[in-house]
Amino acid sequence: MDKGKLNYDGLFNLEQPLLKVPAEQLKKAARISQRYVEYVMKEITTEVNKLSKSANSCSPEQATKSLDDMVVRLQKLKRKLDDTKAEEALYVERTKVRLNHLKELMTITSAESPAYLQWCQTRLDRMLVDYMLRHGYTETAAKLAADKGIEALVDLQLFADSRLVEEALDNKNCTECLKWCNDNRSTLDKISSTLEFNLRLQEYIELARCGKKEEAIKYCRKYMIDWQDTHMKLIQQAMAMLAFGPDTQCEPYKELWDESRWDIIIEMFKSDNHALHNLTLQPLLTMTLQAGLAALKTPSCYSDENRTINCPVCAADTFGQLAQDLPCAHHVNSCIVDRLSGVIMDEHNPPMVLPNGYVYSSESLQALAAENHGMVRCERTGENYNIATARKAFIL
Ligand SMILES: [Zn+2]
Repeated sequence: MDKGKLNYDGLFNLEQPLLKVPAEQLKKAARISQRYVEYVMKEITTEVNKLSKSANSCSPEQATKSLDDMVVRLQKLKRKLDDTKAEEALYVERTKVRLNHLKELMTITSAESPAYLQWCQTRLDRMLVDYMLRHGYTETAAKLAADKGIEALVDLQLFADSRLVEEALDNKNCTECLKWCNDNRSTLDKISSTLEFNLRLQEYIELARCGKKEEAIKYCRKYMIDWQDTHMKLIQQAMAMLAFGPDTQCEPYKELWDESRWDIIIEMFKSDNHALHNLTLQPLLTMTLQAGLAALKTPSCYSDENRTINCPVCAADTFGQLAQDLPCAHHVNSCIVDRLSGVIMDEHNPPMVLPNGYVYSSESLQALAAENHGMVRCERTGENYNIATARKAFIL
């Protein structure tokens, strides 16, 4: 590949959520207003039919009142549609800004141009905001987005809404999340989500935990029975758990009673919410960093003996952890890195071997010798040698 040439496909590959999120929000807003229109129109039609049937029997006053009621309802519908129209316009505008941001990339031809660096800086800011939003640093994220003028490129509202649902679940309350499921039912069905069933199951368990067994059974008949085709086994277990009680050690009932189920539900919600908007499960920042780290990782990064100061993967507490599960990079030619300075040794700065067999770069040894009257100290063993005893190493 030419130096500086941009890999557009690779760059765009990571950007799908950028367009998918406002598109999904737009779809949802349109669906809600459509549902509302259908609901009001159905009511009006019933009302009109009723009125025409009773044309002979009802008084002019009654008919006028009935018509006035309809007008009020239609006016309310109009106001509501005006609101959703404004919301829809916002999502369209956001999509436009995002498309322009991506289009900008197409006008850049070299990875070394200042324009590309500028574009990458904006992308980095976006990733940082996304990372902070996912970890609950909502205010800091909003501040950074405002500071950089990238509010239209990040999903502050989406994460703020999700945060409300997560907080409610954290307080052991399913109402918000059930509402969310209801608003997104068709898409959740498409991804075969079991979130709604698990929420119902959890509400049932909580009723049972309070000792309201009868209410729990009623609840199950009302809300859980619809899932009997797919979740019969769990429904049976839920019934049987009533006989065992919260302190049971017997599985699977112990697991059902366990309060940590709430955390599982929060994770389920997050993963469904991400799937719904095509958001990656991991923050984009983590994925991008991992892509870079995989290119650098070598087997010696994890041996204390061979850590290099200039290699991020060698930093055990930070990037090293992030790269833990990544494969090692495939290096066609091995390169030898100086332990002291972290630079790669080559013919201009050749590797030198000390009498004890350890290798350092010529430049590092010369710098040590200049400070210490021609003597060099081996960093690994502490032995001192005259620099004249170091021999050039030849790598086969
Ligand atoms: Zn390393």
